[in-house]
Amino acid sequence: MNKDLHLKKATEIAELVNSKKITATEVTKYFLSRAEKLNTKINAFNFLTPELAIEQAQNIDKQIQDGKTFILAGVPIGIKDNLNVKGIKTTCSSQILKNYVSPYESTVTSKLWEAGAICIGKTNLDEFAMGSSTEHSAFAPTKNPWDLQTVPGGSSGGSAAAVASRMVPIALGSDTGGSIRQPAALCGIVGMKPTYGLVSRYGLVAFASSLDQVGPLATNVEDASLLLSVISGHDEKDSTSLEAKYEHISAQADLKGLKIGLIREFASNGKGINQEISNSINSSLQLFKELGAEVKEVSMPLISEHCLDVYYVIAPSEASSNLARYDGVRFGYRDTEATGLLSMYKKTRATGFGSEVVRRIMIGTYALSSGYYDAYYKKAQQVRKLISDEFEKTFKEVDVLLTPTSPLTAFPFGDKLNDPLSMYLCDIATIPANLAGLPAISVNCGFDSSNLPIGLQLMSGQQKDQKLLQIAKAFEEALRKNNSQVSAKLPELIGKVN
Ligand code: GLN
Repeated sequence: MNKDLHLKKATEIAELVNSKKITATEVTKYFLSRAEKLNTKINAFNFLTPELAIEQAQNIDKQIQDGKTFILAGVPIGIKDNLNVKGIKTTCSSQILKNYVSPYESTVTSKLWEAGAICIGKTNLDEFAMGSSTEHSAFAPTKNPWDLQTVPGGSSGGSAAAVASRMVPIALGSDTGGSIRQPAALCGIVGMKPTYGLVSRYGLVAFASSLDQVGPLATNVEDASLLLSVISGHDEKDSTSLEAKYEHISAQADLKGLKIGLIREFASNGKGINQEISNSINSSLQLFKELGAEVKEVSMPLISEHCLDVYYVIAPSEASSNLARYDGVRFGYRDTEATGLLSMYKKTRATGFGSEVVRRIMIGTYALSSGYYDAYYKKAQQVRKLISDEFEKTFKEVDVLLTPTSPLTAFPFGDKLNDPLSMYLCDIATIPANLAGLPAISVNCGFDSSNLPIGLQLMSGQQKDQKLLQIAKAFEEALRKNNSQVSAKLPELIGKVN
């Protein structure tokens, strides 16, 4: 059997399976055994799903024998553990849902299984997707495959680390304020948040419903595009779903004449952006220019000054409402020592939720309470509208906006755990796209002097997802030609298995 399957793209694996050069079952066993070994070091998966995986693979093989083909034939995938897969646990990396088994299938995963993908397991996250390092997982943190002493980012850190270590070629994450893009950046892979409403949220455990989007993580832009084409599309089960579908890109964009906006406030050391990251972004801009793009500095004061404040009112407010359902009555854990109904609510929630989730619920409940609603929640919604307007105005002048994805590369465990504000600052560049519902992608653009990956973020106007991925693909291709050493780098530990 092929010994280097983990180095293949998802598109290549599907091609091998469709053309019967290898069976889906063989592919699945290969990746399951790899994931079993690597997961003990990295803890990217909360648990693997070998029985489901083998059953799905055998089913695909049977249909391929009968002449059918599939877009993701036999492609193993990691599913963030806040997405429901029927008959499998959905823990959200929380004590309160530790033993919760989903009675239904989310829309995105049902589309995946129809397209021939194989569920390898559920990936770790910060509890209920609140955090930027996976250290808020109630179970154990995930480690960054590039340096096991550092965090993989979060909240989809498990998905990002699973892909970066090639335990799976692709994974699903969710992004409320950066949770796909920031871990993708810290793990040196591609992560994309689609336009709000392009992908169904049915079956995604809600954190902040007006911001949450499901999206792809992959080792390259083409695979991210293919995965997005499978999971996108209108869904009547999600009232915010758009009447739109993403079509897989067949070619990269010609960058001649493309207008790239560089947000002044995020450039050259602004907003605590590390110098090595600024340098890498500047080299990437140079590459864009060589390909014929025009770079224009734009000023976006509202975005740079107010996004974090607005997000940390709106997201916790929605979370406090969405998480009210975990009270010991219907879902998951119930404290058994309670002496009455109120005591059951209190004890269940006090022991079931971790400290970061409690902090968010308290902030949100305060912001929504009578007497404060107008001053906080309503005001934040008003500023959110102004932020969208600022984007709209800027996109009249430029085609895409470019920023670093994260102000920092992977940081050591414990570095920010007791300083919530400094953790929140990790999302300074990713939150704006969520507030305005825009598509945004992170691609690797280099490494710092400690050999840790650096991510570059591109954002575009609503529903310009296809154009955005074409541009990202052109950049990725140019970087590969220009600096093949950088683009071919892999975490050392991945060669030590299989
Ligand atoms: N890190 C941000 C937060 O803690 C974003 C999380 C996310 O996108 N789910 O809220």
